[in-house]
Amino acid sequence: MNQFQYVRASKPQAAIDVVAKDPTAKFIAGGTNLIDLMKRGVMTPQKLVDINRLPLAKIESQNNGLRIGALALNSAVANDAQVRARQPLLALALNAGASPQLRNMATVGGNMLQRTRCAYFYDITMPCNKREPGTGCGALEGINRMHAIFGASDKCIAVHPSDMSVALVALDATVLVSGPKGDRRLAFSDFHRLPGDTPEKDSNLEAGELITAVEIPDGPFTKHVHYQKVRERASYAFALVSAAVALDIENNTIKAARLALGGVAHKPWRLPAAEQALVGQPATEASFRRAAEVAMQGAKAFKHNEYKLRLAPNALVQALKTASAA
Ligand code: SF4
Repeated sequence: MNQFQYVRASKPQAAIDVVAKDPTAKFIAGGTNLIDLMKRGVMTPQKLVDINRLPLAKIESQNNGLRIGALALNSAVANDAQVRARQPLLALALNAGASPQLRNMATVGGNMLQRTRCAYFYDITMPCNKREPGTGCGALEGINRMHAIFGASDKCIAVHPSDMSVALVALDATVLVSGPKGDRRLAFSDFHRLPGDTPEKDSNLEAGELITAVEIPDGPFTKHVHYQKVRERASYAFALVSAAVALDIENNTIKAARLALGGVAHKPWRLPAAEQALVGQPATEASFRRAAEVAMQGAKAFKHNEYKLRLAPNALVQALKTASAA
């Protein structure tokens, strides 16, 4: 591992000032992804700004919703009574992610900022436009079983690995950030990016900006929810495909739906057209299959991930069936 300086920040503005002034500096909280990347030489920050002591870990009721501090641990959020009662889909998605040990270290902000698990990104002997812009994409002509079926570019076909983020995009969350130019709010759906010509940028955060919290509005999605994760090992693995589903059902008719897929794109993949296709429909398998067909419009597979074209709609239908029966 490269040598680096370590700084501990006691105030958010102090942490922001250091990272904004030094392009080689990074914030560190749980470090469950960043330390791995540093050990492998994939990321080589010259300075780490430890933000663990900043007062950003509260989970509180606010503005007709929940406000979750960026430093709240994944396990604390998943086990929080308010989260479980008011946003059970988020608790399900968090508990589907990583291992109990990792959930006890990883924070909400870090979960959002974790980087792709594309094997070529982690192998510094291989070309990768995300790690080193302009070197090419090893996965395009290589092994691409785990890669995107939506929104890829000829520069990068990686997927975002977070489970939590799939639930948050479905639940219309908002991300609160502070930076050198002040505070701003981003819709969760605008936080992560598609790769386009700049796959090295995972998110729309600007230099020096720090995630401070995530807000989730209260809604009717407290009962009919499910997070379906398909993975190769039940104990601990990233999703091949996942589906986050929240339904508002009255007299077996769907009044509103929130749907998103994970493991299919460079960002958590919200499904607005499929949501619309469900509104006013009976909560039946036939309705779910039609919505899944709508959801898959525009999907495109590469050499080794054609199975996702079948797995994704099947996971979505299964999640809809489980959620509607809850
Ligand atoms: Fe790198 Fe993206 Fe290609 Fe993977 S898919 S090798 S992360 S450019």
